[in-house]
Amino acid sequence: FILAAGGGGVKRRAAAGLWRYAVVRTGQDSIPCKDCNPVLTWRVAAVPAGLTDRKGDRGWRPLDSCLAGLVYCGGQPACSIKGEPDTMSARKTILTGDRPTGPLHLGHYIGSLINRVALQDQYRTFILIADVQALTDNFDRPEILRQNVREVMLDYLSVGLDPEKVTFVLQSMVPEIHELAIHYLNVVTLARALRNPTVKSEIQEKRDRPEGSSIFGQEFDFPLGFLIYPVHQAADITAFEADLVPVGEDQLPMIEQTREIVRRINSLYGEGILQEPEARVGTTGRLPGTDGKAKMSKSIGNCIYLKDPPQEVDRKVRSMYTDPKRIRADIPGTVEGNPVFIYHDAFNPNVEEVEDFKQRYREG
Ligand code: ATP
Ligand code: MG
Repeated sequence: FILAAGGGGVKRRAAAGLWRYAVVRTGQDSIPCKDCNPVLTWRVAAVPAGLTDRKGDRGWRPLDSCLAGLVYCGGQPACSIKGEPDTMSARKTILTGDRPTGPLHLGHYIGSLINRVALQDQYRTFILIADVQALTDNFDRPEILRQNVREVMLDYLSVGLDPEKVTFVLQSMVPEIHELAIHYLNVVTLARALRNPTVKSEIQEKRDRPEGSSIFGQEFDFPLGFLIYPVHQAADITAFEADLVPVGEDQLPMIEQTREIVRRINSLYGEGILQEPEARVGTTGRLPGTDGKAKMSKSIGNCIYLKDPPQEVDRKVRSMYTDPKRIRADIPGTVEGNPVFIYHDAFNPNVEEVEDFKQRYREG
């Protein structure tokens, strides 16, 4: 990616490119460069395609300071980064994120957060809080999102995502993502959108839920915005030129959809315009919920949250399903698909112990 330093002129010139970054000297809302005179502050901002310089800097979001050779710092003689090559741009990029529909849970941890933390040193990492996407099935109760952006952010910090290494993005603050999504909608057919297996099962799950059914009726009676959220997600991913997307298993159809869009746009408008991403699923791609449902999910409320105190975790774990046929400890039980053992496989590092538990459980 291209980097430049300066004021409004740089912004205008960079805006002529396609999703590049620029360092912008700015008075407010900016981050002091660690190596420069702290009076001089810089801001690295994402520059969307075709954006003209707007009043009030909308569309320009702080990303980072002159850290770690990310940018050429053009300004101060004291700055050790001045003139350094742009080493970070050689690194591959991660974009991933979560909907702020509730605090994060063990499913997020094992499915995605572990990978993000492990990869934050090697990859240029963007973590997106997808508040606009969360509105697609919560537009009638936006207060949920307002409350949970902070919760999600606190959970990020608590698991070890480091703000010095990672750039956090609030989706609603980058309107260009939504603009991009509109263009992608032209290259996706209605039939394709309806075929997405995750979208299908989420629609069904929302219909089955008593409180959710009001906006998810029968047949095609659900919000169009919900149907197209995978296309929106393709815009998130490609806007940041992501190479890798660490996600849970339910997201694989979304990444596949993104890859299709990338290929279509590239074949229509020129190879190399968009970067084709790959998914990376954690060791446990889909952690079941405390109610025995196949997926722990914020919206279902079958979660053990990262912030739950120990007594709460204890209470929730004790209420979980095991093998319903095994009503006494001396009856042989089934290990496969049994949440106790899925959790052991996911979280217990002592493999021998887990094998021993399984064997004893099977024997009764
Ligand atoms: P919602 O119910 O609002 O959809 P969610 O619990 O499904 O919430 P998302 O924000 O949709 O969480 O998903 C964020 C990321 O976490 C995705 O990559 C998703 O695949 C992953 N993830 C969510 N739940 C699980 C789970 N139970 N097991 C593994 N990964 C999960
Ligand atoms: Mg989800």
